Amino acid sequence: MSTENSIPIYIEHIPSRRAKGYGAYILKDGARYDKIAVKSLSSASVNLACSKRHTHKCRFRINLKIVNNFNFGSVGFHDPSNFMIKPSKDFGSHSCEGYLTIDEARLA
Ligand SMILES: [Zn+2]
Repeated sequence: MSTENSIPIYIEHIPSRRAKGYGAYILKDGARYDKIAVKSLSSASVNLACSKRHTHKCRFRINLKIVNNFNFGSVGFHDPSNFMIKPSKDFGSHSCEGYLTIDEARLA
């Protein structure tokens, strides 16, 4: 289990399988990988929630504060250097178990 206040590391963005979806992000926290879905997009941040929020009632939420490139979908937008990770106000730690490998998270 991760400690309650640890801040995960951004690994990569996974494009949506649907034409208009925002896709998901893979984050790593200690030994675990998590797939985090885009809940909403604002002009300054991407607001994310655990992809297991429905299936496991996980309350984990986090915001990616956009640093430089504000054009979602443009080249470089999803580069890790374009984000600062900020736990959101209703930040909760994961109650789900996460994934052991990055491939599991990608395929989830
Ligand atoms: Zn979770």
